[in-house]
Amino acid sequence: MYGAFFPIMTRSSTADKAVFPVIPMNRNPVDVLQEIYRLYDAQLEAVDVACRKYCADCCTTNVTMTRLEGELMTAVAGKNRIADLLPRGACEKMPRYQPVLSTNAYVEACRTDDPLPDDPSGAHTGVCPFLKDSACTLYEIRPFGCRCMISTRKCSQNGYAEIDDLTLTLNTVFLQFIEHIDQKGFSGNLIDVLIHLSTNAGRIPDECRVTPNRPIPALMVPPHHRDRLAGVIGRLNRLAAHV
Ligand code: SF4
Ligand code: SF4
Repeated sequence: MYGAFFPIMTRSSTADKAVFPVIPMNRNPVDVLQEIYRLYDAQLEAVDVACRKYCADCCTTNVTMTRLEGELMTAVAGKNRIADLLPRGACEKMPRYQPVLSTNAYVEACRTDDPLPDDPSGAHTGVCPFLKDSACTLYEIRPFGCRCMISTRKCSQNGYAEIDDLTLTLNTVFLQFIEHIDQKGFSGNLIDVLIHLSTNAGRIPDECRVTPNRPIPALMVPPHHRDRLAGVIGRLNRLAAHV
């Protein structure tokens, strides 16, 4: 596992430049984020998933995301609508998974063999507050944590999702880049991030915890997936270089 790190490319190769158009510098990070989402959707076209509309067992209170993803959601849906959808007292009352490390902080700890901190909150079975009548009310702007929750077999059959190893690696790489383009931001449970972003002047409750984002220390790609993912990593690298 710890031999699975792949240094991030810092410059686009000549071959890469020939295939992909030049992207202007200093693009709006939210635009880049949406482009990353589209790139992921394109990757998934090759995966035969069982996920369908109204299949929503995976819509729990365990979804995590970055600040930038929350900014996209609040910009499109509006702070007031988000606040209306979140149950009153959600921060104090809703059991949910609250990560203590961001994805890149976790990768860095693994890479350097640092001890991992306790992660006491665990997974919960509560239903996401944005799920209404088995459909997501914010589907078009849902975070990557929802987009990458896929299964090749209906989760209701086995009680869990089935995802092949290559797609798991792909998901990790996308999570790393999505955090990287928001490295001055933070990550956390969807509920916590949105409360942080939608609370104007009021005090944010102590229970509403988030964790700082980090740049990519190395990509977590096992050697046998490197060739298969080199193309998409090149495209992600080019997108991230222009934020
Ligand atoms: S991940 Fe599972 S529960 Fe979620 S949409 Fe896919 S099959 Fe349904
Ligand atoms: S945001 Fe939407 S897609 Fe994501 S868990 Fe909630 S209801 Fe499901």
